[in-house]
Amino acid sequence: MQKISIQGIQYDEKSSYQQGPSLAPPLIREALNSGSMNLFSENGITIETSRIEDKGDFKIENYFDIEDITANHLKEGRKIFTLGGDHSVTFPIIKAHHEKYPKLDILHIDAHADLYDNYEGDKYSHACPFARIMENGFAVKLVQVGIRTLNPHQVDQATKYNVDVHEMKNYDLNNIPKFENPLYISLDIDAFDPAFAPGVSHHEPGGMTSRQVIDLIQSIDCEVVGADIVEYNPNRDFQKMTSFLAAKMMKEILVKML
Ligand code: MN
Ligand code: MN
Repeated sequence: MQKISIQGIQYDEKSSYQQGPSLAPPLIREALNSGSMNLFSENGITIETSRIEDKGDFKIENYFDIEDITANHLKEGRKIFTLGGDHSVTFPIIKAHHEKYPKLDILHIDAHADLYDNYEGDKYSHACPFARIMENGFAVKLVQVGIRTLNPHQVDQATKYNVDVHEMKNYDLNNIPKFENPLYISLDIDAFDPAFAPGVSHHEPGGMTSRQVIDLIQSIDCEVVGADIVEYNPNRDFQKMTSFLAAKMMKEILVKML
């Protein structure tokens, strides 16, 4: 059976608005292990297993080191679960996955499409990772859920790269397609409504409930080969509620990968 490595990527240099997500990985683990919750997912599977190994946190100085760190962990024959970090970390992570998974589908849950060709002159901004992934052909199918910030440029980009965008205003779990290839899940915490997850840099009202995202994850019935949880900003959190939500999502996604 396939094993999983957890890696914390402490990096937020490509955040356009506020720093903070580099502080997230240890705080999500702290919530997970606080004794407040048990380590079982809702479907009764525990993440307390020798099949999950925590590689600890990596403080990143050079953005492109993220690819090397991920590639080294992949070489051990394990799936990778990443605690970010801002959303820029997803491009080098997916780049590292490409050799092993040349046909990869991606489920991207976010308030934002993150499809800018560049943002404020930076092609690797946290507003751009899915443009980089698609122009490099690193995903066969990209399905975006929770989106509520499209502008004309990003609509053009979504059309150019044939992205299946499920905007929040039309969201219906029944319309989310089935995946045929190995699946990577990228969960930006700002997909949740700020009422559920205040600890994010970009508060975007009108978002998903915790229940909607959990149901979406639980509905997946293909093989999940990798995942990340990004954009938790502890500087903006209230009563640690966002770190506890991130920890719960970590459990639900990890058991899908087991
Ligand atoms: Mn994002
Ligand atoms: Mn976002």
